[in-house]
Amino acid sequence: MKRGTLLIHNGHETDAVVGANTGALGIPIYQTSTYDQGDLSEYREYDYSRSGNPTRKALEEIIAVLEGGAKGYAFGSGIAAVASALGILAAGDHVIAAEDIYGGSWRLLNSFYRRWGLEHTAVDASDPDNIRRAIKPNTKALFLETPSNPLLKITDLKACIAIAREKELISIVDNTFMTPYLQRPIEAGADIVIHSATKFLGGHSDVISGLAVTRTEALGRELYRVQNGFGAVPAPWDAWLVMRGIKTLRVRLEAQQNSARRIAAWFQAHPKVTGVYYPGLEDHPGKGIHDAQADGPGAVFSFKTETTEQAVKFLGQVKYAAAAVSLGGVETIASYPVRMSHASIPPAERQRLGISDTLIRISVGLEESEDLIADFDQALR
Ligand SMILES: *Cc1c(COP(=O)(O)O)cnc(C)c1O
Repeated sequence: MKRGTLLIHNGHETDAVVGANTGALGIPIYQTSTYDQGDLSEYREYDYSRSGNPTRKALEEIIAVLEGGAKGYAFGSGIAAVASALGILAAGDHVIAAEDIYGGSWRLLNSFYRRWGLEHTAVDASDPDNIRRAIKPNTKALFLETPSNPLLKITDLKACIAIAREKELISIVDNTFMTPYLQRPIEAGADIVIHSATKFLGGHSDVISGLAVTRTEALGRELYRVQNGFGAVPAPWDAWLVMRGIKTLRVRLEAQQNSARRIAAWFQAHPKVTGVYYPGLEDHPGKGIHDAQADGPGAVFSFKTETTEQAVKFLGQVKYAAAAVSLGGVETIASYPVRMSHASIPPAERQRLGISDTLIRISVGLEESEDLIADFDQALR
């Protein structure tokens, strides 16, 4: 079965709850907190919706199938999925993280988990040797994200994960930008794959949700203990919205990616643009590695203007693109990383990473690319 078909036929074509058997093509939204336990004589699968819910379970099984993992878990947000995955570690453990992971993940490691005694080292993961050099006796996990945000830098998943496996580290990969339709880190050996389902999986800018998939059943049991014990679970209705989004992922992402290819090339040729960052462009430094580990460049790219004033004016002038945080929705979004997704990173550190105040990130939506280009053109002028 091809990946596009798997998005629709993954074991949840109809309501699979035993006894329901209605043939309904829409998985019912089990909007319930608790479940009648009858005369208590038998074990029932569901007893309380923090611990388990049939709607959420359908989503969890779908993402596990799509990523090729043993177990899937759904969370109330992408960052709740990241926090819960890191929650299987303990005080005194050390994590190696790519230096350009999502700003919220960075904040989680730098403030929240630091206070709880989880150590970490940030490295430039585009050179796997930096990971090897950062390993300490208490290193337990490696946290990667590729392409990175907002500069779309590429990390060689196989090479980095091979180091993690050799040293028995848990490798965690945030696969939000690619989705399992374009990239499957578990095939490269990853132990846990994370998603902000708020983005391409949900796809309509109408839900906050997160997912995690474990390669093994054993790791799944550990993550389940955090999901149930920490309790950052999604509402059944939100789980349903993500399932609905996944059904159209292929057509949305293919169309958005085609537009992104065109629009990124257009930006690259524009005299007021000083740089474009997109793995779909021939001169992108990580293109070779990206093409070997993913099935397409995705629908997000960044560009730099000549001056800060131009960048701010551009954001004020664009009509179709919302000047907003987030990405992966049907509507085009232009974000300003220094004031949005990466505002929590100190300015000096941002500067070192190349996240300047002339940098704008575009998530290409489903509008016609001719209209988007005309709009971007007037905004740049
Ligand atoms: C948005 C995002 C997150 C956080 O997800 P939320 O759903 O906003 O909590 C994590 N990683 C990446 C790459 C993201 O883009």
